[in-house]
Amino acid sequence: MNRERYAELRRILEERRREIVDQVQGKMRDVRSEGANNPDQGVLDAAESSEADIQDEIEFALIQMKAETLNKIDEALRRLEEGTFGHCFECGEEISERRLRALPFAVRCKDCEEAREVAQQRERLIAQRRGAASLFLDMQG
Ligand SMILES: [Zn+2]
Repeated sequence: MNRERYAELRRILEERRREIVDQVQGKMRDVRSEGANNPDQGVLDAAESSEADIQDEIEFALIQMKAETLNKIDEALRRLEEGTFGHCFECGEEISERRLRALPFAVRCKDCEEAREVAQQRERLIAQRRGAASLFLDMQG
């Protein structure tokens, strides 16, 4: 991998990382300031508080999802250091920077991904036909 590509990929990953850290920190701040600025807290009726609970759960799930994405980014940065990041899993070619910017965790190049999708569609079609054929046989039997 040449130096420019390395620097570019690193930039893509670090930008994405910073975005997510900001979002998570923003959320944490929201949750905290809501608690601090809400003198009514503690006198919510049951419906209100269960609604707040659901809201909390959603927030928590979102934060958890972002934390998982952060792990993936760290993993990608590690692979970048090793020089294995940004290569297609199928053909070993470099995945374009444009593609990685849109999909930082892409493991296949565009061509291989498309070929895979076509193959999957074909498999689904074959499976459907097979299903229809066996249904027909069942009816005969
Ligand atoms: Zn490929």
